[in-house]
Amino acid sequence: MENFRYTAAADVHEAIRLAGAAATAQQGARVRFLAGGTTLVDLMKLDVETPEHVVDINGLGLDRVAVSSDGEVHIGALVRNADLAHHPHIRAHYPVLSQALLAGASAQLRNMATTGGNLLQRTRCVYFRDPDSACNKREPGSGCPAIGGYNRNLAVLGTSAHCIASNPSDMNVALMALDARVRVQGGSGPRTIALADFYLLPGDTPERETVLQAGELITDVILPPQPEGTRSGYLKLRDRASYEFALASAAVALRAEDGRIVHAGIALGGVGTRPWRSPQAEQALLGQAPDAARYAQAAEAALRDAVPQSENGFKIELARRCLAHALATTLPPG
Ligand code: SF4
Repeated sequence: MENFRYTAAADVHEAIRLAGAAATAQQGARVRFLAGGTTLVDLMKLDVETPEHVVDINGLGLDRVAVSSDGEVHIGALVRNADLAHHPHIRAHYPVLSQALLAGASAQLRNMATTGGNLLQRTRCVYFRDPDSACNKREPGSGCPAIGGYNRNLAVLGTSAHCIASNPSDMNVALMALDARVRVQGGSGPRTIALADFYLLPGDTPERETVLQAGELITDVILPPQPEGTRSGYLKLRDRASYEFALASAAVALRAEDGRIVHAGIALGGVGTRPWRSPQAEQALLGQAPDAARYAQAAEAALRDAVPQSENGFKIELARRCLAHALATTLPPG
């Protein structure tokens, strides 16, 4: 691990000022916010992340879940994954989020990992995590050995000729299906970003993963209220039953009225370069009766644009079955 400067910020404004000042003082200065550290510290030990300045944000008080009078839920960026998963309001009204969080990592990691940190979780691509390997995401222009190399756990949706890394998070998949928004604060003030617009496709700049600007800090995640009758659920398929990343996962939020589906929020995990919202699958369901054949068609639509790599073609059928099963268990065919 390389030497770095450490500062514990006292409040949001100081955190932003420290990050902004460092970025301004030195073009491209590497500043990282430290929350739970479950990704950052790991990657610093591997010399994949080599920040010059680490700004500790654990004292900022962003650790509360609040329900506003209009029913929106505001989740502080420092709310730990375990606390969020077991929060009574989340369990009752957003079961897909609770289930996704509990399907991730281990109990110890969930006690440390935060909502904001989970949003920025990095890929598990083995080449990215090995500083001796080429990797366009870690070192732009160096190449992508995963294409034609070890890619069993990587993406089939949203890939490019420069990067095929999959987003490893479970929580982010659930938040996608729930139409979450992300509030951030930076030198030019606060802004709110729909999660659907938060992640970037790799294209020819895989080193840029989100629309966050240098020095911007995630302060909270906002969930819209779920109308009465909404059902949601998360299904994760993986090589072993716990402490493992998804080969394929599906988060679904559905509501039916008079025997017809009137709302569908559908997202896939483990198969996309970002948590993968599927408007195609949603369109296939809207106005239709809950039905096994219709669910299979929606799953087919969700994977229609998938591009297999040398070792991960099996994920396409796996993801189809995962989504069809998640739909059928969340809103059983009538
Ligand atoms: Fe790097 Fe992306 Fe290629 Fe993995 S898939 S080696 S992260 S460029």
